[in-house]
Amino acid sequence: MKKTYLLTPGPTPIPESVLAAMSLPIVHHRTPAFMAVFQEVQTGLKAVFQTQQDVLLLASTGTGAMDATVNNLFEKDETVIALNTGKFGARWSKIARAYGVNVVEVSAEAGDCIELAAVELALQSHPNVKGILFQASETSTGVKLPVQQICALAKKYNVLAVCDAITACGVFYLPMDAWNIDVLITGSQKAFMLPPGLSMMALSETAWAKQAITKNPRFYFDLARERKALSTHQTAWTPAISLIVGLRESLKLIHEEGLQEVFKRHGRLARATRAGVEALGLQLFVRKIEYCSDAVTSVRIPDSIVDGKKLVQHMRDQYGVIIVGGQDELDGKILRLSHFGYCGPFDIVTAISALELALHDMGYPVTFGKGVGAVLQSLSQT
Ligand SMILES: *Cc1c(COP(=O)(O)O)cnc(C)c1O
Repeated sequence: MKKTYLLTPGPTPIPESVLAAMSLPIVHHRTPAFMAVFQEVQTGLKAVFQTQQDVLLLASTGTGAMDATVNNLFEKDETVIALNTGKFGARWSKIARAYGVNVVEVSAEAGDCIELAAVELALQSHPNVKGILFQASETSTGVKLPVQQICALAKKYNVLAVCDAITACGVFYLPMDAWNIDVLITGSQKAFMLPPGLSMMALSETAWAKQAITKNPRFYFDLARERKALSTHQTAWTPAISLIVGLRESLKLIHEEGLQEVFKRHGRLARATRAGVEALGLQLFVRKIEYCSDAVTSVRIPDSIVDGKKLVQHMRDQYGVIIVGGQDELDGKILRLSHFGYCGPFDIVTAISALELALHDMGYPVTFGKGVGAVLQSLSQT
């Protein structure tokens, strides 16, 4: 037997009470009992999204909601701007192109953030743009984007602000209505502490108006049909019943702690993680501290470790601590430590302890306790 610790940015660990709720006998979805659950979940989700709009529940992962967004809002030969700060930004471009939508990409180097001036320039040079598609937190690099400023630009140029908030919603402050976010998307296996398979999304009135005039062929992911079903506390198709029952419990946990307290906890854990890795002489991958997302911390693997992929494998196989490395061209170059969702101070202590051991095993000079000491020091200050 080896005890394992899941410290990845999705799936994230699941609280015991959520697991217990999901293990109850299945209820039928066209019953008053389920509709009551559904209504409770609506109220809880609106509070997390900080919106007055309906929050749609789709039986898909987050990418399904991204796909549904593009298909419902943009037609072939229309143009969108996609902000590419990493793998998930690139995914917006891929989805849009799959539907024949023209994409103007504004990119940043991995670990860097987008320049607002470049976004504005793209808006000025392409007056026919219909939307800006971006992430609030780019999970592949750990970069946080300036959502409020991006939305202000979208409003100024009268285009839709479409935000993949899959590792942002429920992680840090991101008020949908107050910031004029037109589409906000998230998924169950991130800050909502559930297994994968459920996506949640909301549209502003402006986005709904565009949806109504966008004439793409669509069937399963017809958001207007979902909205209509939602008015009677239902979904268009069979919902992911057990996940929604689990969601009621995870929303209860979030609101019992208090949304602002949840955000503060994530901030505290992110700071402690950064303190721990820096005390070990490692470098953060994100270029500036103000770009660091509170969801995930990405760390450069030191050059002295030739096989960078092995570090992550070793932490898993030798110590049972499951973190993730980089994706695609960042594979072997960075590691990523997650600190949101069902995560507390001792998860950070665990992660940094295992990192110290694994670095030592791979020949990197470590004074044991130095990273952990800095984590505890940081935690004690906040
Ligand atoms: C996890 C993630 C996704 C993809 O979600 P799936 O549930 O794997 O489809 C998209 N965007 C971001 C920022 C993510 O972190």
